[in-house]
Amino acid sequence: MGRMLKNCAPSPASPLRETRQPIYHRDMAKLYFHYSTMNAGKSTVLLQASHNYRERGMQTYLLTAKLDHRAGSGRIASRIGISAEADTFTPDVDLFEAIATRLEAGPIACVFIDEAQFLTETQVWQLARTVDDIKVPVMCYGLRVDFQGNLFPGSAALLALSDEMREVRTICHCGKKATMVVRQDENGRVLREGAQVQIGGNESYVSLCRRHWRIAMDALQKQS
Ligand SMILES: [Zn+2]
Repeated sequence: MGRMLKNCAPSPASPLRETRQPIYHRDMAKLYFHYSTMNAGKSTVLLQASHNYRERGMQTYLLTAKLDHRAGSGRIASRIGISAEADTFTPDVDLFEAIATRLEAGPIACVFIDEAQFLTETQVWQLARTVDDIKVPVMCYGLRVDFQGNLFPGSAALLALSDEMREVRTICHCGKKATMVVRQDENGRVLREGAQVQIGGNESYVSLCRRHWRIAMDALQKQS
C-alpha cells in the first residue's frame, strides 16, 4: 500500500494537477477549511474529492461528528443521494491519535472531516499537528456561522489555523451569495433563541444573504 501511495501521488508536473478537483501530495500537506452556510452542498464536494483519490487507488479516511438522533450515524450523506461510510468523532476524541491509529492499518492520501464546525479548538490543533508532523493533508468541511450569526468554535479555530480556506457557495432566494442561516420551527417561523446545536428537533434551516437574514431577524424582533 505504501508503494501504491508513492506511485500514484502526482508530482508537481503531473497532469492530475490539472483536474478540477485536485489531488494533494504528501509533500504539500496542508490543513484546509472548506466553509459554507447550510445546504450549500459541502458534503457533496467532500465525497467527490474523496472519490477522486479512491478511483486512483489511494485510500482516504473519512470522519464526521457523532450527533444523536441523526440518520445514518457513521455515514457522510449528501442531499443529492451519494454517501460513504465514515468514522465518527466526539469532543473527547484525540484526532491525532485516531489518524495515527488509522495509518497503522495502511497509508492514507488524505483525511476528510465533515461537520467540522463541531470540532473543539483542541481537536483543530490535533489536526494541525497531523498535517505538520505526519504530513497527511486534512480537508475540513463545515458551517462558518450558526443561526444567530456567531462562529462555531470549530470554525473559529479553523479560520485561525488552517493553511487554506475555500468557500462552498450557495445563493439566497434573491440571487445574492448566501452567507447566513436562519433556523425555523415546524411552522416556518424564524427562531432567534435556542442552543447553537439543536439535535433531533423539527426545525429547519434556510440560507440567506446577510441583508435578508437581517430582515428575517429584525422582523421577529418587532414582533416580540
Ligand atoms: Zn437575499
